[in-house]
Amino acid sequence: MKKALVCGAGGFIGSHLVKRLKKEGYWVRGVDLKNPEFDKTEADDFIIGDLRDQYLCKKVVDTKFDEIYQLAADMGGAGYIFTGEHDADVMHNSATINLNILDLAKNMGVDKIFYSSSACIYPAYNQEDPDNPNCAESSAYPAAPDSEYGWEKLFSERLYLSYARNYNIAVRIARFHNIFGPEGTWRGGKEKAPAALCRKIAEAPNSGTIEIWGDGKQTRSFLYIDECLEGIRRLVNSDFTGPVNIGSEEMVSINQLAEMIMKVADKKVSIKHIDGPLGVRGRNSDNKFIMQKLGWAPSLKLEDGLKKTYQWISEQVRKG
Ligand code: NAD
Repeated sequence: MKKALVCGAGGFIGSHLVKRLKKEGYWVRGVDLKNPEFDKTEADDFIIGDLRDQYLCKKVVDTKFDEIYQLAADMGGAGYIFTGEHDADVMHNSATINLNILDLAKNMGVDKIFYSSSACIYPAYNQEDPDNPNCAESSAYPAAPDSEYGWEKLFSERLYLSYARNYNIAVRIARFHNIFGPEGTWRGGKEKAPAALCRKIAEAPNSGTIEIWGDGKQTRSFLYIDECLEGIRRLVNSDFTGPVNIGSEEMVSINQLAEMIMKVADKKVSIKHIDGPLGVRGRNSDNKFIMQKLGWAPSLKLEDGLKKTYQWISEQVRKG
């Protein structure tokens, strides 16, 4: 039986990944500051602890795992990443986790380690035109991410690549583009656009009003969680190191996203545009490279993922 460690197993993607690995027959250890918020973990062993602490990390990486999935990070949506208030914590906390876990993986002779980077590493100068953003993997340099969160991800990508080069550890790196789905943060300030809009629309009375940050013309693509997991597993099972995008190419404006959620919710509300933290003007995944390297790219329609997500978030809203 293969043994996997999932760091960040109490978070959104990590808790889903644990379920996926269990379905595939793995023995799984999870570690996080907290238990998964919305469902009991399916991990065989779950350690609550702080991965900034080297001693805790030694307890966690105490055996030669076949695979480590490093997803733990200090992160959130635009309201967390782009205000500047959390920059020092984001950089210090996430970098420390990566430094600790990767070094122990090397020392313990772990076979493979997966690292979750982000589309936030891409240069701001290539994402000013909402209709034609460039997020091809090769466009990452000269680097100019628009947030410290992106800079930390870029540093850590390079850290993992250095370990692969110098210590021969098999590294796999994905750059996720806006992953969404049920059992993700949907309130409290760390939620992302799809969850925030689902919540606002679920809470609003029919023909009420919801607020959107900015003019809503900024564009993004959003990837449903199951497709993200499929991409992770395919990448880890391949011989390809990456970094590679795992994202959707179905780009929409935030106004269009809101309209799509209204359709799914069968509810009409008006949109009021207000000032708020925004990020780049346009961003979309570019899936040529993943197709070329893995012979696969995500294909689920955004609307299908939104149906499942809206259903789950509206249930949470009803429960209060
Ligand atoms: P998440 O915030 O739900 O999960 C991250 C988990 O890491 C949290 O449960 C948190 O408690 C844990 N964590 C943070 N600091 C820790 C510490 N010091 N010790 C132990 N655990 C700690 O985020 P997510 O959406 O599941 O994202 C997972 C990974 O994917 C992150 O690295 C994130 O940067 C990356 N990513 C996510 C997206 C997305 O759209 N969700 C996009 C790009 C990249």
